[in-house]
Amino acid sequence: MTVQDDAIHVDGAHFAFTDRWGGVSAVPYEELNLGGAVGDDPAAVLGNRELAAKSLGLDPGLVVWMNQVHGRDVAVVDGPWGDEIPSVDAVVTARRGLALAVLTADCTPVLLVDPVAGVAAAAHAGRPGLVAGVVPAAVEAMITLGADPSRITARTGPAVCGRCYEVPEGMRAEVARTVPAAWSETSWGTPAVDVTAGVHAQLEALGVRDRHRSPVCTLESGDHFSYRRDRTTGRLAGYVWLDG
Ligand SMILES: [Zn+2]
Repeated sequence: MTVQDDAIHVDGAHFAFTDRWGGVSAVPYEELNLGGAVGDDPAAVLGNRELAAKSLGLDPGLVVWMNQVHGRDVAVVDGPWGDEIPSVDAVVTARRGLALAVLTADCTPVLLVDPVAGVAAAAHAGRPGLVAGVVPAAVEAMITLGADPSRITARTGPAVCGRCYEVPEGMRAEVARTVPAAWSETSWGTPAVDVTAGVHAQLEALGVRDRHRSPVCTLESGDHFSYRRDRTTGRLAGYVWLDG
C-alpha cells in the first residue's frame, strides 16, 4: 500500500489515499480491497483494513466507515458505530484521533480538515452526490462544529478524470446546470463529467481555498480500482484524522 499524496501532514492533520497493492484479497479484488459490499471475502476485507490502519499508524477500531448510498446525508460522529452503520455519504468529527474513511472506485473521495477547530470530514462524491451537494453539506456540518472555511484544507483523491468519464449528452447538461464546472469532454470528443472539478468549484464557492487534487485517474491507472473499467472490483479508501 502506498499513500498517494506527499504533503500528508499539516498542523496535526493527516490525509491518506490507498492504492490497490499490499493486501490479501484474491482476483478480482487484488490486493488491498477495503470495501465490504463488493462481493469479496469478508475476512480478507477485515485483514486489509487492519493492514492499512497499521501502516498509517491507526487503531483499526478507531476508523469510521460509511454505508455509502450516493446521497447527501451527513453524520456527526464521536466514536465508532455500534452494530448499525448508517447510510450516509459524509461523516464529520470533532474528536481528535478518530479516523474517518471513505470508499471509492472512480467516485471522488473528499477529505477536509480545520486543524484550528479540530474538525475533520470525509465525503463520497460521485456524480449524484456532486449534484445533491454532499460536499457543501459536509462543510456546513463542519461549520456547526466550529470550523471556518478559510482554515479548511481540502484534498480530493484518485478518481475517474473528466477526460475519461463519458456520459450521455443529456446527463452532462443536467449536471452542468447545477455545477457548471463539472462540464467536460472525453479525450475522444464525447460528453463527459468532471466530478472532481465540480467538487473543487463547490468548495471554492464556500470559501475553501486551500485545496489539493490528486493527479491520478483511477480508470487510467493499473494501480487503482476502477468500477467503470472493471465492474467487479475492489474499493480504495481515503482516510483523514487529526492527531489525538
Ligand atoms: Zn482519465
